[in-house]
Amino acid sequence: MAIRKLRYEGDPVLGKVCKEVKEMTPHLKELVQDMLETMYAAEGVGLAAPQVGVLRRIDVGEGPYVFVNPKIVETAGEQIGDEGCLSVPGKSGTVRRPEYVKTVAFDADMNPIEVEGHGLFARAMCHEFDHLDGHLYLEKVEGPLNEVSYADEDEN
Ligand code: ZN
Repeated sequence: MAIRKLRYEGDPVLGKVCKEVKEMTPHLKELVQDMLETMYAAEGVGLAAPQVGVLRRIDVGEGPYVFVNPKIVETAGEQIGDEGCLSVPGKSGTVRRPEYVKTVAFDADMNPIEVEGHGLFARAMCHEFDHLDGHLYLEKVEGPLNEVSYADEDEN
């Protein structure tokens, strides 16, 4: 396991659409482990593969959760709240997201999973999955982007 180098806003890799994972290889399993380690080291709550420079549809989150080829299949409600991102350090902004999402994906062993989330978890899934299509939360911020000066802000 190793901590991988984070990619930051302005890096073209963050604007690209990631490829589906067809098969879980030892190489990709190592990537998943490294992503978890990198997320914990950076004190984030979620991390998407392009944030470590890999254009594959893989996300990890606190739990820990591993989502391979995630797809949101149902949403409900609405919530408005602050988001930050490990790829946009020191900033946060207000983003509107569904209050509830249902996701289908595969786990790290390519078993199909279905995960439902409300509130912050729903928000985190939306944020992470957006990364896989080359989108940052910055595109969705309503109002000003805020400076965050303390280190314990939730970032994904
Ligand atoms: Zn992010």
